Amino acid sequence: MTAPLEVPSTASQRRLPAVHVLLAQPQCQPLVKQYGREQTTNAVRAVLDTLRAAPAADTSLDAVLVQVAAALAHDNESSMRPLYNLTGTVLHTNLGRALLPDEAIAAVVDAMRWPMNLEWDIETGKRGDRDSLVEEQLLALTGAEAVTVVNNNAAAVLLLLATLATHKEVIVSRGELVEIGGAFRIPDIMSRAGAVLREVGSTNRTHLHDYDDAIGPDTALLMKVHCSNYAITGFTKAIELDELVPLARARGIPVAVDLGSGTLVDLERYGLPHETTVRETIAAGADLVTFSGDKLLGGPQCGIIAGRADLIAAIKKHPLKRALRVGKLTLAALEPVLNLYRAPDLLAERLTTLRLLTRPAGQMQAIAATLLPQFQTLLGADWIVTAEPMASQIGSGALPVNVLPSYGLVMRPASRQRGNPLGRLEQRLRALPRPVIGRVQDDALWLDLRCLEEGHVADFSAQLHQLAA
Ligand SMILES: *Cc1c(COP(=O)(O)O)cnc(C)c1O
Repeated sequence: MTAPLEVPSTASQRRLPAVHVLLAQPQCQPLVKQYGREQTTNAVRAVLDTLRAAPAADTSLDAVLVQVAAALAHDNESSMRPLYNLTGTVLHTNLGRALLPDEAIAAVVDAMRWPMNLEWDIETGKRGDRDSLVEEQLLALTGAEAVTVVNNNAAAVLLLLATLATHKEVIVSRGELVEIGGAFRIPDIMSRAGAVLREVGSTNRTHLHDYDDAIGPDTALLMKVHCSNYAITGFTKAIELDELVPLARARGIPVAVDLGSGTLVDLERYGLPHETTVRETIAAGADLVTFSGDKLLGGPQCGIIAGRADLIAAIKKHPLKRALRVGKLTLAALEPVLNLYRAPDLLAERLTTLRLLTRPAGQMQAIAATLLPQFQTLLGADWIVTAEPMASQIGSGALPVNVLPSYGLVMRPASRQRGNPLGRLEQRLRALPRPVIGRVQDDALWLDLRCLEEGHVADFSAQLHQLAA
């Protein structure tokens, strides 16, 4: 026997088909057509590279092209994927907050496909203002004199401060120095806007004289911030807007309120806890109010500033307004959402966010009963699945201490299992074609069914067989 002339890697290299041969195969043509020649060629090279490192692999033309097709499909998969939010938090910031009603979805599709009068007055044929597309509805809904729309509520607060308070003082109660998840903190946004934060009072108690004493020649603004994600209870005192406004008026200083969620309707009417509305805030004398579009309002991500005409005019002239403005897709989505508010008696049915928030627990209970046997069968004896009442949250800092009675499934390990069984179960649910996201709490995995509507149950359950590990 003679010694081999070639090292093994060269031998396997020789067995590999050439790039041009692979590209010329008839089964490769649909790939070239779909993904383009360049991308397909790169994928062929990448697959050949991996095969070179795996001498035992099947290197037939067919086998290689199957891998090429899989690699191309994988590379072209969208990284933003729909999923089932069974966390129990309806407005979940990490899962995209408000879901839009069909009217808004259709309008966005049109705005993507066609030119539109974004900044164009069709009647006069002259240049217009994009805010005017939603102005009328927002004025009617809030009672404000003027409005402007920007990228989100954080941008609204930043722009407001930059316009009214650069190099000047803004007085805020120590009980309202909020941090919202994702690095929005009132003190930080103040300094970014070039404003000087003047804290008054203490964490639990702030009096009117605290504001009064702090007002000086450099005071530009009194500001109140909605305690979106916490509540201060016990020995507390906060100055309500209607007490603050007379002081501000007497001293000639405007009052701004960052409402956070900013609901446009009285939620009590729909059986939900009361949340101060934008209209109430304007009526109580706020000169400016800022709020989000994708929290309780139920629309697209944006921030709305409503209030006094002269102040809004100044804000719209600030150069940052141009940097923070919204795009046409946002405005296209916002207008039909605002239009739904014209029929408040139908709102709980039509506005997706409100529909989810007002679902009676009985609906979720019925769905839990259908899904329970399916989950129990698929998960087997390692898990005990039960249908139980649970509590959903509104989320995104709306009414943080209020919970909504809901119903769902609870999965507990039947016996002591090695490692992290709950983590593994979560992982299996995330690995489904449309991932299912629940929450782990008290040694169990909880799937709150509030955000799984009847119309989606069939699709939800059709993919579950893939859970069987
Ligand atoms: C949510 C919230 C914000 C941030 O709003 P985004 O729309 O997420 O930018 C700011 N202030 C308060 C009080 C909030 O609740």
